[in-house]
Amino acid sequence: MGKPATNCRNCLFFKVHDSYEYLEYCINLREVVVLSDEKTPCPQFKEVTFEDLKEILSNEGFLYCVSCGEYIHFEELEKHLGKHTVIRGHFVDDVTSEESSVAD
Ligand SMILES: [Zn+2]
Repeated sequence: MGKPATNCRNCLFFKVHDSYEYLEYCINLREVVVLSDEKTPCPQFKEVTFEDLKEILSNEGFLYCVSCGEYIHFEELEKHLGKHTVIRGHFVDDVTSEESSVAD
C-alpha cells in the first residue's frame, strides 16, 4: 500500500488512440495496448517527468489531459500535473483516417 502502482498512463511512451478513446497506443512498442487494473507496464516503462512534459510542450506546443479530456498549454500544465493524467497526445492511426476519409 502507499505507493501507487506504475501504470502505462504514467509512461513517456503512452498515447490515447485518436479514434478509440478506450484504446491506448505505445509509441515505443508501436502497438495498441488495452489497459486494465491487472496490466503491468512492459520492461521499457519510463515514468514521464516534468522535464519530459516540458520538452514535449516545446516540440509540439501542447499536451493532452486525459482526466479533463482537453488539450492544455504550458500555462495550464501546473493545474493538471500531479492530479491528472497528462500525456503527449493522441495517436492517429493512418489506416483509420484513410477509412474515415473514404467514408466521407
Ligand atoms: Zn486536467
